Amino acid sequence: MNKNRNEEHQVVLVTGSAQGIGLACATAFARNGASVIMADIDTPTEQAAALDAEGLQAAAYGCDVADPHAVCKMIDRIVAKYGRLDAALNNAGIQTPQRPMAEITDEEFDRTVAVDLKGVWNCMRYEIRHMLVQGGGAIVNTSSQGGVTGFPGQAAYIACKHAVIGLTRTAAIDYAAQNIRINAVCPGVIRTPMAEELLRRNPQLEQELVRDIPAGRMGTPEEIANAVLWLCSPQSSFVDGHALLVDGAFSIH
Ligand code: NAD
Repeated sequence: MNKNRNEEHQVVLVTGSAQGIGLACATAFARNGASVIMADIDTPTEQAAALDAEGLQAAAYGCDVADPHAVCKMIDRIVAKYGRLDAALNNAGIQTPQRPMAEITDEEFDRTVAVDLKGVWNCMRYEIRHMLVQGGGAIVNTSSQGGVTGFPGQAAYIACKHAVIGLTRTAAIDYAAQNIRINAVCPGVIRTPMAEELLRRNPQLEQELVRDIPAGRMGTPEEIANAVLWLCSPQSSFVDGHALLVDGAFSIH
């Protein structure tokens, strides 16, 4: 970032911030004094207004991260309005219906890749172009504990989350000398609307999942936000190309 600008002066983009992990991260950035652009396919107007009502700096933006033109336009507008983009959390994501790999349709696979992988690619490309001009920045991509492990019935999603780590590591090497740090956060099982939907479809899953988490519980979106804020702060200035597991020890169990 701009010689690791403190978060209270940051201009930060968070995608997928209408709910769940993205909303918690946008809220945490704003409460730390950043100007936050909350982007989501479902424009988070009320969510941004709620932060505004707390006296914080938040703006809502409607954008499908799978659309490179829409992403380019959004990032250009952010830089035109705020003059820079210090940090970005590329977090928007979807899950595929849970079924064995050979039963996932081409359409489901293509949409998962378009959002969960190409969406990160689209955002990073335009973020990096501006960060190169301004002399640095910090990017965090949301992968998953599924970026380093498997998960039954989620082949397309898991493939994308593995790929996000590869993309993060390679881009980190490409831009480390230009003062742009690029890391991934790998959440474990976090209680968000996405996780609730998975549990609703498979009610005994919560007990099974918690049994396998050494910490003995699901995580909270705020615990992911703490990790993301650190990855975008000067305190992590030599952390680059890292995939940070925040999963209550699930994936090493
Ligand atoms: P969520 O479904 O609660 O929120 C995801 C947000 O992304 C939603 O607001 C949705 O509208 C938005 N979104 C979806 N498609 C989009 C698109 N094409 N363009 C822009 N926005 C779009 O999910 P969550 O649990 O908060 O997950 C956030 C991220 O964390 C995802 O990338 C997910 O894969 C990852 N993750 C979640 C968990 C978990 O347990 N909840 C675990 C590991 C990783």
